[in-house]
Amino acid sequence: MEIGSGVARFQGEVYKQQQELFHTLARNGQSPKYLMISCADSRVVPELITQANPGDLFVCRNAGNIVPPVAVKNGGVSSTVEFGVMALGVTEIIVCGHSDCGAMKGMFNPEALDAMPNVKAWLSYSETAMEVVKACYGHLDKDGQVKALTQENVAIQLVHLQNHPSVAAGLAAGRLQLHGWYFDIESGSIQALDSNGSFREFKAGDDMPIAVPRRERKVASISEVAA
Ligand code: ZN
Repeated sequence: MEIGSGVARFQGEVYKQQQELFHTLARNGQSPKYLMISCADSRVVPELITQANPGDLFVCRNAGNIVPPVAVKNGGVSSTVEFGVMALGVTEIIVCGHSDCGAMKGMFNPEALDAMPNVKAWLSYSETAMEVVKACYGHLDKDGQVKALTQENVAIQLVHLQNHPSVAAGLAAGRLQLHGWYFDIESGSIQALDSNGSFREFKAGDDMPIAVPRRERKVASISEVAA
């Protein structure tokens, strides 16, 4: 592909077909329902795999679809999450991993990352998932372990996400829920994490599995607090 001709085609054809939508979005601003945190991999295109229009998805992409723990202050991901939840009012957050992920494969070959200190440091936020793989998936072959790491990584990033203040508040207030996806590049299929902790096929006609449902729960009992 040649990027200049792509821009020309967008402006000459695609934009014109959606001109009214762009005008409305420009006048009224955005109010996306979904925040998608996906890998930066060029083969994983959130708007394509969900057939989303402009205005539908608030998107954060990085190597390995990682959400650093809340203790890591003022990063791009945490700022995007906070803005998406608090300013835009997204009600669903999807963390999307994928097959053949270079970041996940790199976790198995840390020496190769020595020349890329930023990547190495970034992938440290996936080390917990790697420990789970060592403990539970040693019987699998290399490809199986990469897939297991990719799926466990999605689960771990959802744990990190739940500890972010805006997300914790949104879950507890019952206005937010979380999803974990594994996108298979070759088949185009999506496996989604359910609340039992299993990935299962998410097919046409299915309700979207929910990894972390909105809770409307509070730890404290109001009556006990009042007493
Ligand atoms: Zn990737």
